[in-house]
Amino acid sequence: MKKSGSPTLLGIPFDGQSSYLRGAGDAPAKIRQALRCDASNSWTELGVDLGAAGAYEDVGDLKFSVPASHKESARQLLDQMPPEFAAIEARVAEVLAQGKRPLSLGGDHSITFPIVKAFAHTYPSLTIFHFDAHPDLYDEYEGNKFSHACPFARIMEAGLAQRLVQVGNRTATRHQREQAARFGVDMIEMRSLPALDRLNAAGPVYISFDIDVLDPAFAPGVSHREPGGMSVRDAIAHLHAIEVEIVGADVVEYNPVQDVSGVTATVAAKIVKEILGKMVAK
Ligand code: MN
Ligand code: MN
Repeated sequence: MKKSGSPTLLGIPFDGQSSYLRGAGDAPAKIRQALRCDASNSWTELGVDLGAAGAYEDVGDLKFSVPASHKESARQLLDQMPPEFAAIEARVAEVLAQGKRPLSLGGDHSITFPIVKAFAHTYPSLTIFHFDAHPDLYDEYEGNKFSHACPFARIMEAGLAQRLVQVGNRTATRHQREQAARFGVDMIEMRSLPALDRLNAAGPVYISFDIDVLDPAFAPGVSHREPGGMSVRDAIAHLHAIEVEIVGADVVEYNPVQDVSGVTATVAAKIVKEILGKMVAK
């Protein structure tokens, strides 16, 4: 396998599989704005200058070209894959084929399934570190197998990842615990943190970061506020503890509609910044 190339931002403005609130589709533009805001400089905490020429790239937002009528009919058939998923998978595959390492800005968490589908072709022995208040392992949610509550069930049953490590869960139901056992998921729940020494992997790593892993006191701009979560500091410490090669990532579920004076956009941008810094360094 050839050496991995530039970390690359890719916006995926899609919230069509959110079960409770829409709004996450507007997140990519807001996160980029916060990332480039003059309120902060371009250096990461670990000493990487993201403002240096070529440190990372940005290929803009994915533009969906699905006809509205097609969208409508697809929504009525919940067991059919949403037509946008094919576009997401194709675009991520394209970026990967250019030798880049995409960091996708969501969007709701459903996008991680088509993203990881694209990754699996290039990286057959992927380890996923999944930060989230929720396991997102439902076999189906309200009749929808492609809901943002289900991506990791789809990923694991399709064998797209060799290993899944979940960090920060605090909402697991009996069904989701059964699913975790069935798929051999390493579920490190919120009450067991910190777990700085458990973020190791034999092969390449993909990070899927759901903003609601953070306590709503730090990040109120999410669709599903779940108290008792990580501080921004806890999350950064866990990201910094990852010493293996990060080949891709996503930061999902920031919902600007729920935000308070843009604070969550700033937090999401900080998380993106520290992940990018780690990707540049490796
Ligand atoms: Mn999630
Ligand atoms: Mn979540």
